[in-house]
Amino acid sequence: MKNELDSGSKFYADVTAYFDQAAQFTNFPKGLLEQIRICNSIYKFNFPIETDDGIQVIYGIRVQHSHHKLPTKGGIRYSEFVNEDEVKALATLMSFKCAVVDVPFGGAKGGIRIKPADYNVKQLEKITRRYTSELIRKNMIGAGIDVPAPDYGSGPREMAWIADTYAAFRFDDINALGCVTGKPLGQGGIRGRTEATGLGLFYGLREVMRNAEDMKSIGLTAGIEGKKIIVQGLGNVGYFSSKFCMEGGGIIIGIAEREGGIFNDKGLDVEKVFKHRKDTGSILNYPGAKNISNSLELLETGCDILIPAALENQIHEGNAGRIKAKVVAEGANGPITKEAEEILNKKNILVIPDLYLNAGGVTVSYFEWLKNLSHVRFGRMEKRFEEMSSSRLVSAVENITGKKLESAQRNILIQGPEEKDLVYSGLEETMISAYHEVREIKNQNKKIEDLRTAAFVSGINKLGASYASLGLFP
Ligand code: NAD
Repeated sequence: MKNELDSGSKFYADVTAYFDQAAQFTNFPKGLLEQIRICNSIYKFNFPIETDDGIQVIYGIRVQHSHHKLPTKGGIRYSEFVNEDEVKALATLMSFKCAVVDVPFGGAKGGIRIKPADYNVKQLEKITRRYTSELIRKNMIGAGIDVPAPDYGSGPREMAWIADTYAAFRFDDINALGCVTGKPLGQGGIRGRTEATGLGLFYGLREVMRNAEDMKSIGLTAGIEGKKIIVQGLGNVGYFSSKFCMEGGGIIIGIAEREGGIFNDKGLDVEKVFKHRKDTGSILNYPGAKNISNSLELLETGCDILIPAALENQIHEGNAGRIKAKVVAEGANGPITKEAEEILNKKNILVIPDLYLNAGGVTVSYFEWLKNLSHVRFGRMEKRFEEMSSSRLVSAVENITGKKLESAQRNILIQGPEEKDLVYSGLEETMISAYHEVREIKNQNKKIEDLRTAAFVSGINKLGASYASLGLFP
């Protein structure tokens, strides 16, 4: 690929090609499929900010892919490579992703073309607030309109600035905090959002790998335990995916970052590696690990599971033939090109697609939005009530059996749910049931050969059904 613009065009071309491929397995008329496929609104803008070197013009964009359900939803990417096609691809994926996991939103995505590391915190705040006010001017943000979230290069801090800017302009909107998700706890955020995408990936991967027959067909035993894993990217998605996989018994043998990679066949402690990178500014020279200067080489190293969790188009025609993993679990959006996927499929490598596997973030964003709209923390109403009911039950059993539980045992049994418990439980249920829906679609139609096509079919069917209920399709 010549440059990042080409990379964005390739990404969008791949996403629409996946759509077309899956659309053949649905029954909707051509016109409706075109409506489902196309991006509904695109807003591009430029604004000035003052830096020490004078005035700089910043490019911003927001794409709303589908208005079949409102609000639309999708993160804001902060990267020097942001371009229209890339954001269109990401917005399109969001519509189908939300549909696959039954989150009642249309898809959207945004971007600010900057390299965050080139700006100080004050400048980043200025840029974020100005980007938000541009969206407010065009009525492209709000709890019932379009709700951004973090993506590559942005996080809770940026979301807090967005919420604060929106609330300042729309002070009479009682649901103002629901205009953005991924916020810090003190500003209407929800427990469990930060780790949601990685945790969702773990729940999804664990469910896919639970089935011994399915795993046998690709030469693996069931379960994550003992499996060797390589991860690309140690940002939000990569860090939490590897942390949860490690806690679930997986062995993280390699981590690739932009400055290079590290490898240790006996396993790396993800939290210690993260701290090492924070302290030294680099993943390299981690004690006991081998440095790998070209981090892309690490993706080609033998392992059971490869988790690309950095950027799109990382596995392409040029390196797909050398991938040795048995499972590729897409943490990032679009990390495999279409041509590469065909090569991986031929090699009997199981690809678990982004539009299912990294949907944990938007699922918990949905919970955060519900919390903001209901103005009450999950668990607040029922925690004590449930504890009282369980306590009565335990006391009744104690009276019947004549045996008393130790107070520590009793506390474990009667403990009511905290917000985080409910979020984790909702996320786990979502990832497990969505996978079985997708797997069922694949198993019911022998012509559907891969999980990505099945996931797209699931998404298209749900979007189509939604238009049908509006009377647009008999
Ligand atoms: P992030 O900014 O937190 O982390 C990205 C990491 O990738 C950084 O540590 C960066 O240094 C690293 N990286 C960049 N180029 C690299 C390269 N060439 N090789 C190896 N590492 C490289 O971003 P994130 O939020 O973790 O997002 C990562 C991907 O996951 C993106 O594709 C994003 O769209 C997708 N995603 C994110 C979320 C979310 O909730 N954050 C949800 C769904 C999908």
